[in-house]
Amino acid sequence: PATLWIVATPIGNLEDISARAVRILKTVAVIAAEDTRHSARLTQHLGIDTPMLSLHEHNEQARTTQLLERLDAGESVALISDAGTPLISDPGFVLVRAVRQAGHEVQTVPGACAAIAAISVAGLPSDRFVFEGFLPARTTARRARLAALAEETRSLVFYESSHRIDKTVADMTQAFGAERQIALCRELTKLHEQSVCMGGAELVAWLATDDNHRRGEFVLVVAGAAAVERATSEIGLDALLRELLQITGTK
Ligand code: SAM
Repeated sequence: PATLWIVATPIGNLEDISARAVRILKTVAVIAAEDTRHSARLTQHLGIDTPMLSLHEHNEQARTTQLLERLDAGESVALISDAGTPLISDPGFVLVRAVRQAGHEVQTVPGACAAIAAISVAGLPSDRFVFEGFLPARTTARRARLAALAEETRSLVFYESSHRIDKTVADMTQAFGAERQIALCRELTKLHEQSVCMGGAELVAWLATDDNHRRGEFVLVVAGAAAVERATSEIGLDALLRELLQITGTK
């Protein structure tokens, strides 16, 4: 049957594409790509000559209508992003939802994803984590989002670009405290891959010591609020309550 294939592509290292991804990309009628010029470099390298069309956040609705027509006509379609797994801080949700609603198959060809790669090397608890993607660009909104996450006990995963990395780490340190452990993973799978993990205040200083530390693409993994801290603050609240009750003479 006509299928929409959601195909992961590498996040930097071209060797990180699966044999299955290459086969599917060769056999579908059309590849929908975020930026066709960018993805042409990958397909050329892999000897794939399937026609491509663009699908990005500004034309996703219109493209969805066109791609549905092709699926209705029995053609299979692949969706790829500039890097990594489509729909993960990337377009595709509108398309996938519509294609499923129309009753067509949607199947995954999994592979690289920067968030998962980072959590697997960060050295912070990986049993439960929350993917937050990109923080808001505006300072007030960004700080408000971080403040709302301060009590979260699961590890937190963020995407960030080189433009804002230092501001974001400074804001995190403000919101979560100087000691909270933050893993900074940059340029994963690429030549200058680097992952470090330290307290927020220390990481602010580390970023300032070398321009190279602020270059490239970043995933930040932040340790969750310690359960122990929460427990003590709850005990503190309990003691306070007892004291207040004694003052008012209630038993
Ligand atoms: N869909 C992609 C995925 O599966 O990871 C993410 C796309 S999002 C538009 C791009 C962001 O992902 C970058 O700004 C960066 O935060 C992160 N990223 C992508 N490649 C990376 C890499 N090689 N190393 C570190 N972070 C990366």
